[in-house]
Amino acid sequence: MSIENLKKNGSFCSMIWNHMFFLTNNIVKPCCRFEYEKFDKILNLDNFEVNDIFYSEFYKKTREKMLKGEKIDGCKRCYEEEESGKKSLRQRYNDSSYIKIEETVDLNKPKIKWIELSFSNNCNLKCRMCDSRYSYKWYDEEKEIFGKTFIKNKRSYVNLNKILKIIDDNIVHIKFTGGEPFLIKEYERIIDYLIDNYDVSKIFLNYNTNCTIRPKDDLIKKWKKFKFVEFALSFDGIDDVWEYIRYPSKWKTVEKNIKFFYSLKDTINSKYVFRSTISILNIVNFHQMLDWWKENISENFHSEISTFNPTHLTFPSFLNLQSLPKEKKHKIKDYLLNHKNNENEIIRKYVDHFVNFMFFKDRYEQNKEMLKKYIMITDKNRNQDFFRIYNKFYEGLF
Ligand code: SF4
Repeated sequence: MSIENLKKNGSFCSMIWNHMFFLTNNIVKPCCRFEYEKFDKILNLDNFEVNDIFYSEFYKKTREKMLKGEKIDGCKRCYEEEESGKKSLRQRYNDSSYIKIEETVDLNKPKIKWIELSFSNNCNLKCRMCDSRYSYKWYDEEKEIFGKTFIKNKRSYVNLNKILKIIDDNIVHIKFTGGEPFLIKEYERIIDYLIDNYDVSKIFLNYNTNCTIRPKDDLIKKWKKFKFVEFALSFDGIDDVWEYIRYPSKWKTVEKNIKFFYSLKDTINSKYVFRSTISILNIVNFHQMLDWWKENISENFHSEISTFNPTHLTFPSFLNLQSLPKEKKHKIKDYLLNHKNNENEIIRKYVDHFVNFMFFKDRYEQNKEMLKKYIMITDKNRNQDFFRIYNKFYEGLF
């Protein structure tokens, strides 16, 4: 069957043939959002080399199922997006114009052509929707809230040598996440390794950054050798909402840095994706974020250079839009729908997606106690006040 037809079978995903995601603690997954509970956990870099995992029975079976159009347990998040009318990660990578499927997928000879790397949980923030897998700063507070931590050791890493073994001139793309990529020195080591050994003019890079740290000049010089650099800029709110979510960063500093990153388009070949993880904490700020974008970035929400790309939060589920009581959901629906930003087709699609997703399930009863406990402990520890910021929408929530 042709790849064009496979792309329509509702299950086929190019990433199972050309990609691997590496998470701190030597964890490996087919992609960043594959549900780890549904993955064969023995397949990690403590036990195996990268290619042993990529050519393992788990991958072989998953490929067979995808070729038959069978749904994959671990891919729920993509199916949820597709069901509520949003283009999923699966569909976006199947149609990627940067990682062309016809150039990077051989159905009979799978080969890693691009990787996503979360090398360590070294981060300077402890954002409210995050956890110790990505920021060691969450470790102690996690214990207080959940009585356990998401990882064993406070500081965690990936075995870089095992990854360097699979980096060869087949690689077309590397995505650096974290932690905070501009705090992780190993990433510049990989850049130097690539420049010293391969033709990097055909490789493009991606940095998923929280916009608190600016890259140094010599790194910017090195980027000029690459095909282009894509910046996935965290954009989870503005002003108080940003500071409440992305603790302890300051919006004024971050705002200047976002503009700095965007100005790099004048010196290097760069592209921008503004990543917003939409939860109960920033859905109420959605139109203010858009207005900031229009004032500071572009009237367009999708262009060759920059894209506004919000997605719904699923974990932790007590911050998920579906965890609000009906009355609050209706209040947010009114706020989302009654705004001139909806005259823009792209925005109207996002608004419809978030409203559909919000009402798709009712998780209020199962999550209300956990949400209350979480807010009370984190507010106390961070000297923040949920109701000072959210009273307009969430008065009486608990
Ligand atoms: S279908 Fe979605 S969840 Fe599954 S591997 Fe592809 S991108 Fe990941």
